[in-house]
Amino acid sequence: MDLGISGKRALVCAASKGLGYACAAALAQAGVHVVIVARSEGPLQQAAQQLKALGPSEVVAIAADITTPAGRTAALAAATRLPNSGHGDYDILVTNAGGPVAGDFRDWDDAVWYEALGANMLTPIALMRETIDGMQARKWGRIVNITSTTVKSPSPYLGLSNGARSGLTGFVAGLARQIASSGVTLNNLLPGTFDTDRLQSNLVAGARQAGLELQPYITQRIEAIPTQRFGRAEEFGAACAFLCSQQAAYITAQNLLIDGGAFPGTL
Ligand code: NAP
Repeated sequence: MDLGISGKRALVCAASKGLGYACAAALAQAGVHVVIVARSEGPLQQAAQQLKALGPSEVVAIAADITTPAGRTAALAAATRLPNSGHGDYDILVTNAGGPVAGDFRDWDDAVWYEALGANMLTPIALMRETIDGMQARKWGRIVNITSTTVKSPSPYLGLSNGARSGLTGFVAGLARQIASSGVTLNNLLPGTFDTDRLQSNLVAGARQAGLELQPYITQRIEAIPTQRFGRAEEFGAACAFLCSQQAAYITAQNLLIDGGAFPGTL
């Protein structure tokens, strides 16, 4: 399917690996020029090379911590390094950052909470604040926040994610409707369990919390998913690219759960 977004310009955060990379790859395959951000230079440059091999899109890699003001400034400024489509900023924003630590809430002091809120709530809000006005002025924009299944179904060991991402979700529910008439869509994509580096560390924490050895715990987790497997990052990236497409112009203010049917609700 032609997504109709070839030549658009996207900022994809936390995108040298995992779900962020998969979103950048799907957008690049659709002809979108992308800026990717991650902290570690080596994997970031490798990711940029892989993305360039996917098609004619321009790819710019910014080594920065997206949760810091300086990192966000660098990421936003990089829009001017993409081919000029008559303006100096982004048409598409995909927010993402590392997930918060797993553990017991008794161990989390205010500093730990502020870090989680900074990465998983305030950073996406800051990036939206900086990009929405331009999108609205041009009457076209797509924003996708990578959040988590934890906003629908709380994880026993990821309380920081349960809390911080729910704050973002509540804010987005209001903002998406405020900007909807200007051609800018704003949605959250909720990953269930995807086979990425992040998953490996979460499985270790989950096994510890459940008092199980790692392998039986992994088997138990897979058996709880109706599709009987973890998700593949490229499946997530494809959904992200569709939400950024011309065809998805009427999809806004939604929380799309991609979890192999694991959430047991009717709706
Ligand atoms: P991942 O495979 O560990 O990849 C994380 C990516 O984010 C890497 O490229 C990493 O590069 C980058 N990153 C992390 N912190 C960053 C920062 N402060 N600034 C810039 N880049 C940063 O993780 P993932 O599985 O794709 O997860 C992505 C997000 O989805 C996380 O918030 C995670 O909690 C959430 N999530 C994942 C799952 C799952 O099943 N995988 C489920 C629910 C929610 P550097 O380390 O070099 O910066």
